[in-house]
Amino acid sequence: MAEEWERLLSQSITEPEQIAGRFEIDIEALRAVTAIYPMRISKYYFDLIEEVGDPIWKQCVPSPLELQDPYGFDDPLNEEGQSPVPGLIHRYPDRVLMAVSNSCATYCRFCTRKRRVGRQEVELSRAVIAEQIRYIERHPSIRDVIISGGDPLMLPDAEIERILRRLRAIPHVEILRIGSRIPVTLPQRVTPKLAKMLKKYHPLYINVHFNHPREITEESERACGLLADAGIPLGNQSVLLKGVNDDPAIMKDLVQKLLRIRVRPYYLFQMDLVKGTHHFRTEVEVGIKILEALIGHTSGLAVPRYVIDAPGGGGKIPIQPEYVLRADGDSLIMRNYKGEIYSYPKAPQMEGAIKSRSPDGKRPKCR
Ligand SMILES: *Cc1c(COP(=O)(O)O)cnc(C)c1O
Ligand code: SF4
Repeated sequence: MAEEWERLLSQSITEPEQIAGRFEIDIEALRAVTAIYPMRISKYYFDLIEEVGDPIWKQCVPSPLELQDPYGFDDPLNEEGQSPVPGLIHRYPDRVLMAVSNSCATYCRFCTRKRRVGRQEVELSRAVIAEQIRYIERHPSIRDVIISGGDPLMLPDAEIERILRRLRAIPHVEILRIGSRIPVTLPQRVTPKLAKMLKKYHPLYINVHFNHPREITEESERACGLLADAGIPLGNQSVLLKGVNDDPAIMKDLVQKLLRIRVRPYYLFQMDLVKGTHHFRTEVEVGIKILEALIGHTSGLAVPRYVIDAPGGGGKIPIQPEYVLRADGDSLIMRNYKGEIYSYPKAPQMEGAIKSRSPDGKRPKCR
């Protein structure tokens, strides 16, 4: 029997005509894009669009710019090259990412796995998933498994549970993680039944993917609340997107709203060099400015780590504003979030340095 969310999914927008029913668009131009990169927009996410070109629109409605990308690569992170078995990426020694589904409730136009998601021909069958799990069983160094896709929550509860149960039976697998954008694009899929099932497989972490404050709605709040009530720590992975969230005020609003729905900002990703996504890419300075606008200016809990996933598959590299300005003799000269200058002795026992460099000239009280 189909569940309510499956019924909702079947009402998704997949044809350009369905958009033309509500907004003025060039159907032919859109069709040229969807012939290469599939479109699906859940009815729920589509209804969040207020006008053509707004931050929700940009993330889900195909753009002719996708076909005019001179720079991108199909697989910039060399995920295929680091997959010892199909769909399982083993990049770091102690953790792997397994793709268990190639479909999503809404296909994000900026997706890093644009080469794969939404395409029937790249099938992730039960047999493929079983092969991924056998690989994990054979490699005792793997203590952390990320279940990803596509979107793993596109699978029926019973399929997800089969995977979780098999992974939990592997003694060296300490933690499980799920990466999903479903709480953002189809929050109705997060049911009490799903939360109750997931709860059995702790320690389980879920990373969701909000990019804009307008994605935080009553429904997405309810979905995250159900998961949090099941004891699942929630993190958020945002992508820095031109014209969507490349603005300190928008990001500050987003990260503060995330904490209110019990989601802790985890990563802010610089766009990967994915073919068909060039129009979303910002300069790295934009991300650094955003972090500068967050660090110290809002709860430390709200500040994600800004990372570039190294082209070629080198892993995530943190990019940060510079707070240490220089070394001055035995002291570090630093600035705080307001730009005020402080110094600190490089070797903590150097009292002389403390005396002479402390901003107010006083010795620290606690020793
Ligand atoms: C992001 C990622 C991970 C997990 O990285 P963390 O920094 O531990 O969150 C693992 N494997 C792959 C292939 C990844 O892309
Ligand atoms: S939900 Fe994730 S995997 Fe799916 S299209 Fe969006 S970014 Fe890609």
